[in-house]
Amino acid sequence: MNLTNKTILVVGLARTGVACARFLAKAGARVTVTDMKNADQLAGQMAELAGLPITWELGRHEETSFLTSDLVVVSPGIPMEHPLLLKAKEAGREIVSEVELASRFCTVPLIAITGTNGKTTTTTLIGEIFKGCGYLPFVGGNIGTPLIELAESGEQVDFVVAEISSFQLEWITSFRPSVAILLNITEDHLDRYREMPAYMAAKGRIFENQTKDDFALINIDDPLAAGFAGSLKARLFPMSQKQELAQGIFHQNGVITFRHDGEEERFPTENFRLKGAHNTENIMAALAATLLSGCDATRAQAAVTSFSGLRHRMELVRTLNGVAWYEDSKGTNVGSVVKSLESFPGNITLIAGGKDKGGSYTPLAPLVKERVAHLILIGEARERMHAALGSFTDSHFAPTLEEAVSQAHRLTTPGGVVLFSPACSSFDMFVDYEDRANRFISAVQGLEGDPR
Ligand code: ADP
Repeated sequence: MNLTNKTILVVGLARTGVACARFLAKAGARVTVTDMKNADQLAGQMAELAGLPITWELGRHEETSFLTSDLVVVSPGIPMEHPLLLKAKEAGREIVSEVELASRFCTVPLIAITGTNGKTTTTTLIGEIFKGCGYLPFVGGNIGTPLIELAESGEQVDFVVAEISSFQLEWITSFRPSVAILLNITEDHLDRYREMPAYMAAKGRIFENQTKDDFALINIDDPLAAGFAGSLKARLFPMSQKQELAQGIFHQNGVITFRHDGEEERFPTENFRLKGAHNTENIMAALAATLLSGCDATRAQAAVTSFSGLRHRMELVRTLNGVAWYEDSKGTNVGSVVKSLESFPGNITLIAGGKDKGGSYTPLAPLVKERVAHLILIGEARERMHAALGSFTDSHFAPTLEEAVSQAHRLTTPGGVVLFSPACSSFDMFVDYEDRANRFISAVQGLEGDPR
């Protein structure tokens, strides 16, 4: 793809927008950047692009730029049905997402991971296994480093491992992973996708440009994910914790078995540090993707064994008066809170709530009824969560996270667990999920003695 002298409009100046603008300007394109935020609000991002020949359209969008650019590069934060994008499309302009652009410059096999939950854990683990097997991977995408930064740096790697959100799959045309992983699909982001079918269709696009030389790794225990198995161009490589598979990867009685074209590898799970059925799913996906890409089973097993997981996913903060306090700020949707609640048999005080994403909270009801002794609700979503779950257990509202922590301290009896797993995003009261996690951790660290 020749970029010299092409007129290119970059829409949105968050991290991926900055990376795209830098890459394109350095490659000789005539770059315009537009964002509804003004120059004051974007001073930091503009400083990162200082010295590059960029035209700024900030605090506004200019329709002419959308209608006349050779290429429009859209950041994942911009809704697909933005009126100016629709007009640009109608006018025959080429519109691409950052991952589409980056993939056009990617010359090594691409492993792409999507799903509602488990993406970051699986992506990181795949990177660790590749490293453990002596390869050099680039690990990025929706987590950390945008893929386009690899194109810009020109660094030589053996594999690209990319966490891909449904938003990034909008505006792809040739993005083609050699292994595409779909972990699971539960409700999330219904504030952006008006309905589940639209959310699912966006996730399914990960398989769109694959060919019979590629693999589609699908968790067939998940009914919605399994729905994609019938319409693939790639080879299906199924994964299951419910059934033995002649071809695929499955988990039974503490052993993960990988079977592919007559080859069989077995991985006992007892020494793995990542715990829980959901993490077994992530491990299976990571093992299958790396083995299918040529990794050695013994070294892969060693890499999984030494992986202890990521921060803010079910971390034990402390134990006080026989109560264990867990921080799971990354539990940002109902599906992940289900998994977190399933990790404890009962006597749970659940602190939840935050920015409402528009989905239903009722899938939590059976577990709340069975295992949650006290429910403390915070944030914008608290009324709607209360309407869905309040009648199943002892329920409370708290005006702040700190107050929720004090209430939990008073209510939870020894032997119990306090779980902070919000089922919502954090943007109503916090900068992001890490800020929310840190606020919880300091409130819990500040607790003293027995409140009763
Ligand atoms: P993502 O990047 O998709 O948000 P993470 O790996 O960051 O996923 O995990 C986020 C949360 O989702 C975890 O705290 C855990 O509760 C839950 N989770 C992780 N893996 C899975 C899975 N395979 N299925 C369901 N829930 C999961």
